[in-house]
Amino acid sequence: MVKIQIDGKEYLADPSKTIIEVARENGIHIPHFCWHPRLSVSGNCRMCLVEVEKAPKLVIACATRVADGMVVHTTNERVIKAREAIMEFLLINHPLDCPICDEAGECKLQDYAYKYSKGYSRFEEEKVRKPKRVALGPNVMLDVERCIMCSRCIRFCDEIAKTPQLVFTKRGDHVELTTAPGEILDNPYSMNVIELCPVGALTSRDFRFKARVWEMSATESVCRGCARGCNINIWVRNNEILRLTPRYNPEVNDYWMCDFGRLNTFKYVNSNERIKSPMINKEGELVEVSWEEAIANAAFKLKNFKKSEIAGIGSAFATNEDNYIFAKFVKQVLGSPNIDFMRHIIGKDDDLLIRADKTPNSLGAFAVGVSPGEKGMNFEQILEAIKSETIKCLYVLCDDIAISDDIINALSKIDCLIVNSPVKNNLTAIADIVFPSATYAEKDGTFTNFQGRVQRIRPAIATAEVDRALDGLSQSRLDKFGAPNDRWTKGTKIDARPTWRILVAIANAMNHKLKYNSAEEIFNEIASSVEAFRNLNYLIIGKKGALLNMNKIKYQKPVTV
Ligand code: SF4
Ligand code: SF4
Repeated sequence: MVKIQIDGKEYLADPSKTIIEVARENGIHIPHFCWHPRLSVSGNCRMCLVEVEKAPKLVIACATRVADGMVVHTTNERVIKAREAIMEFLLINHPLDCPICDEAGECKLQDYAYKYSKGYSRFEEEKVRKPKRVALGPNVMLDVERCIMCSRCIRFCDEIAKTPQLVFTKRGDHVELTTAPGEILDNPYSMNVIELCPVGALTSRDFRFKARVWEMSATESVCRGCARGCNINIWVRNNEILRLTPRYNPEVNDYWMCDFGRLNTFKYVNSNERIKSPMINKEGELVEVSWEEAIANAAFKLKNFKKSEIAGIGSAFATNEDNYIFAKFVKQVLGSPNIDFMRHIIGKDDDLLIRADKTPNSLGAFAVGVSPGEKGMNFEQILEAIKSETIKCLYVLCDDIAISDDIINALSKIDCLIVNSPVKNNLTAIADIVFPSATYAEKDGTFTNFQGRVQRIRPAIATAEVDRALDGLSQSRLDKFGAPNDRWTKGTKIDARPTWRILVAIANAMNHKLKYNSAEEIFNEIASSVEAFRNLNYLIIGKKGALLNMNKIKYQKPVTV
């Protein structure tokens, strides 16, 4: 370690690190555009110029290693003047697009212009005009005029996504970002360049012009697209999810997420396919009924079968809390050992984030008890038993298992099929009773990723249930539903409930006293009764998750095909 001084204070520093890294570790912000902690140093924006005593000129903090006795100034007059000059230089050709730019409100150039520029322009000549709408690939648009040539996007493609698809062309102030000859920006991680871009040059074709940043709220959550469980923010305006962005977690996804997770895992939440209220099959047709009728009907039907005739299919898409209550419901309330869940293994794990297991919680579902009890049947055996009419009643949790004609034919013959689902699908179409369940964006809970990391999800949008809670309950009860988000609006909402709450209501209707008021209460019970979760709670899980004790789980990793 070496001793250095930054702005009059002494710090111990690793000599292999640069000034910007050491400053950052110690909470000192040195403005920068082109530097990023996970990309190679290009040193082209010059925004991080600082003064090092005894050096003849200002140095760039991103490319200068610390050395013993080094004295650094990051805010003296010389440095401030240099920053102002760099900002003036960058703004010469930058268009005055802020009022219509997606990046406004989260733009480094805009922020630094407020903080470090002079506030007026001395430039009277014509700005260089460049193309404004260039589709770089299926998901990303480029506004060449806004580009400040930091090269972050190029380095991301080269170094992280390992798909060299972007390059600079031309020279001087005519430099333009473009795709490499014969290439388009099309890789599984292409949209990460949108957050990497410090200005509004790269924008999402999906989100473009949909909302201003300050109109939305951001809720910390976890992607449900695969077993990685990338940390995300869910961005909402007027109770509608408009985009997902990656949230930094060095243990899980670092700064990134994949395009599939970003684009394909949230649109069902606001889709027309949502189930709006419970439904019962009456004379071959699913008709909407009240919660009371559906719960009483389910309880009545379930009581009519022998324990050996019932099976439950949990869900690797559902939370630990939902699956725990489901395991308890099937094994203790219904008395059946026949319980398992469907695996969704597609393709292979890649070298960065993407996992072949396309569910967020297969490890958690198994760990909290969704696996056959003694002499119980697994998923395949349950299907066979349905075909041979040994299993006559099936309860399926939040997973469309009707993925083939063979399964649909088997399930169509069953005497009683009860389904919890947020959306209409092949399975709900043939169900006897359907309960609308809340999505991952509407409830509290946890997922356990493939590493055994337990991570929190939180309500980002409201359901009718939350509206009812807001109307009638005390603050302490409201807190259990999740703190109301100031972007939630009153009005028509889907009458969906968390799966655990539906199961508890059916159990009570069957005279089994289950009583839980919140997902957190269920998690605390998991932590006290499931060895692998011992000592965990929502506080410990916090923002970055916490590892469960993998030695206590005999989990077979799903086979990759
Ligand atoms: S498009 Fe954005 S990230 Fe790429 S070089 Fe230009 S400013 Fe940098
Ligand atoms: S890698 Fe998996 S968890 Fe991460 S964003 Fe993609 S689909 Fe979601």
